Amino acid sequence: MNLLIMGPAGAGKGTMSDMIVSEYDIPHISTGDMLRENVKNNTELGKSAQSYMIAGKLVPDDVINAMVEDRLQKPDCQKGYLLDGFPRTLVQAEAFTKIADKIGKPVESVIALEVGFDTLKERITGRRICPKCGAIYHIHTKPSKTEGKCDACGSDLVQRKDDTVEQLKVRMDEYEKSTKPVIDFYDAKGVATHIAADRKPEEVFGSIKEVLSTLSK
Ligand code: AMP
Repeated sequence: MNLLIMGPAGAGKGTMSDMIVSEYDIPHISTGDMLRENVKNNTELGKSAQSYMIAGKLVPDDVINAMVEDRLQKPDCQKGYLLDGFPRTLVQAEAFTKIADKIGKPVESVIALEVGFDTLKERITGRRICPKCGAIYHIHTKPSKTEGKCDACGSDLVQRKDDTVEQLKVRMDEYEKSTKPVIDFYDAKGVATHIAADRKPEEVFGSIKEVLSTLSK
């Protein structure tokens, strides 16, 4: 199953991705997570990406395309993939069509999550993440049992540097400008499904499963 999940920051891509991965046994590949890992490990890629990321700007297409092409050829992608955060520009989408064809893994379905700005703002500013195991919390809707500590591994929870209202606005502008055309691109190919994501996670996931059930038939 070769899937893309799309939506603005705070649309619930991380939460839905976790649910999809456990149901369908494909790896969740988030370009944002891969980049953050590179920044953490101070790799050459991380060093060149960091300033773009802190500013909420997109990392250059050629860097991202090469990173994804390499990742999709790892053995865990044999049954497919769930790409999150990529392609984010039309240039990336066009390049990815060629890459995916070349490696024999063309996109089968694009899940486009849709949420209004006020809900996104609420979700983003309350989001806390575990830097060690990647667990995601929310101070109001999904608090950890002990304030500021990860339930799973006990590490101190942190707020992502770009999870502020100011950065959300920048990221939303970037999304409208660069990523909406990507959804249009997949709409035109007839593989995108738009899903209202300002609902409970189980409800959103129910809609996703309906879409994916038509694929495996
Ligand atoms: P995310 O976690 O998906 O919100 O990504 C965090 C940051 O990583 C973005 O604001 C960009 O700076 C960078 N990034 C992630 N994916 C991409 C991509 N496909 N193209 C360019 N930059 C990206």
